[in-house]
Amino acid sequence: ELGGKLAVVTGSTSGIGLGVARALAERGADLVLNSFTDTAADHALAEEIASETGRQVRYIQGDMSDAAQCRALVEKAGRCDILVNNAGVQHVAPIDRFPSEKWDQIIAINLSAAFHTTAAALPLMRQAGWGRVINIASAHGLTASPFKSAYVAAKHGVVGLSKTVALETAEEAITCNAICPGYVLTPLVEAQIPDTMKEYGMDRETVVRDVLLARQPSKEFVTVEQIAGTAAFLCSAVADQITGTAISLDGGWTAL
Ligand code: NAD
Repeated sequence: ELGGKLAVVTGSTSGIGLGVARALAERGADLVLNSFTDTAADHALAEEIASETGRQVRYIQGDMSDAAQCRALVEKAGRCDILVNNAGVQHVAPIDRFPSEKWDQIIAINLSAAFHTTAAALPLMRQAGWGRVINIASAHGLTASPFKSAYVAAKHGVVGLSKTVALETAEEAITCNAICPGYVLTPLVEAQIPDTMKEYGMDRETVVRDVLLARQPSKEFVTVEQIAGTAAFLCSAVADQITGTAISLDGGWTAL
């Protein structure tokens, strides 16, 4: 169903971005994978997905903390029918001890990158007469937690940016939406478990239930596959009138 479309997914060498990229290729889209590294493993991953799906898959290095590299990623892709802004980083500290370079980095990667890639992609989508912008925000795009000032500010910003892009493209065959996941057990989250076990003197099960999933009423992680399926749904024809919205996959977190 996505045959002939090219999807550019930022930060797609692991976790959610990789899952979304795979799902789009499985539905027929060609891919541009991206991260800030340029290793043999990055290019091997592109070849692996290409041989699994029979699609054209390229790896293009680009540091999403840098405005020029964000725009260059889309320019190097050459076309961009589906843009998934997924690259993201986190830092946890109280505001008075939050390093300002961490603030700048999180705002750059988690928010400004989506502005720059979208600015570069919209003219290509208009040329093609169709487009989808999907921003991977977070439950933290709709609600806050202490010690995550930069992340919460950036993700709220991404939800606002998604609404603005939707209004500017409303009369065209282009949509823009945000996906707002609760906790997903990606390498990023998995890596936090041992430290938290040590810090609180808890076993793994208690950390997962009482710390990570404390605010996720379902007490289950969201899966990468569920997010990937939602992104694929947003690319399908039934989603033509879904634009400017934030779709939560959070086990009830934002219903609290
Ligand atoms: P991850 O660490 O597994 O993946 C992040 C990806 O971003 C990696 O491929 C990494 O290489 C890339 N990246 C990091 N810095 C980059 C940069 N400067 N330039 C280009 N790429 C860069 O994390 P994930 O959990 O898959 O998170 C993906 C997105 O989903 C993020 O935006 C994150 O905020 C969001 N999210 C994650 C969760 C969760 O629980 N894991 C929940 C809600 C939202």
